[in-house]
Amino acid sequence: MSDYDFELERVIREARGRGARAILIQAPDGLKQHLAEFYARLEAEGFSPMISADPCYGGCDLAEDEARRVGADMIVHIGHHRFSCADEAVPTVYVPAAHIADLSWLAEKAAGLLARRGFRSAGLVANTQHQPYIGEFARALEAAGVRAVVDRKTGGLVLGCRTAAATAIEGDVDAFLFIGGGDFHALGVAKAVDKEVYAADPYRGEVKDMAPIKKKELAKRWWSIMEATRAKTFGVVVVAKSGQLDMEGARSLKARLEGKGKRAFIIAAGEASWERLAGFSFADALVVTGCPRVAPDNQASYPKPVLNMQECEELLKRL
Ligand code: SF4
Repeated sequence: MSDYDFELERVIREARGRGARAILIQAPDGLKQHLAEFYARLEAEGFSPMISADPCYGGCDLAEDEARRVGADMIVHIGHHRFSCADEAVPTVYVPAAHIADLSWLAEKAAGLLARRGFRSAGLVANTQHQPYIGEFARALEAAGVRAVVDRKTGGLVLGCRTAAATAIEGDVDAFLFIGGGDFHALGVAKAVDKEVYAADPYRGEVKDMAPIKKKELAKRWWSIMEATRAKTFGVVVVAKSGQLDMEGARSLKARLEGKGKRAFIIAAGEASWERLAGFSFADALVVTGCPRVAPDNQASYPKPVLNMQECEELLKRL
């Protein structure tokens, strides 16, 4: 059906159990291309599916308003686990969408590299799609003479903003091995720990040392913080996504910036994209509340300093 496990049978069971008929399917952009068959199978089972075209970056971003507007009784949220403890406003089924592939060769490649680098132990972490491979990578590490450690509480799962799976075991390992595509999650882990982090990427087929990317990223973030010390007017962006909305945090930052003699405006955004924020020419710098990865990951496309809340704390110490 696809290279990802969309757990069709479970989704059908849950939808029938909840008496749902109209289903809004929500997925990250990278997985939307795989949804045609899943949609067709739901339709063949008597449901009325719809696919959301909007971006979807995490379980923090449920399309509840859209679901209500299009009359959906249920959301199928693909690619992430549940993010918040609060009840969803629209019944939601989460489908992690495990990547279906033979990654034994990558596990051996990564284990060999870590062994050659002299590490005696390694912490294993993965993104949602690759968490099921942690056991296989652990066996490959052990076979290469590297003790594998996995945080029990999280099962090794990391999100862009949640890296406890790594920080909780840092004292017990020599290095970390992340399993998953791209730099986003691996960089989040690398920034959260002092130990070396290697990323095994199933799509590029490479095992990468994250140290040079981390160094470059930290330098850019400090540049943004230092540039922001010169700003007179700030836009504090509050993101109206279910798991990201932090009105109290935004108001508090506004007051603290004003306490340092700055002007500050609260800007409400459905999507904190730079196309949306470019119009606020009166703001010399922006602080994005909610997702801490929006500011660092989009700074390149924005000509002014953009900070997250943690970086704003560093800024406030310097004002
Ligand atoms: S807050 Fe950001 S990093 Fe965390 S899950 Fe949501 S989109 Fe991902």
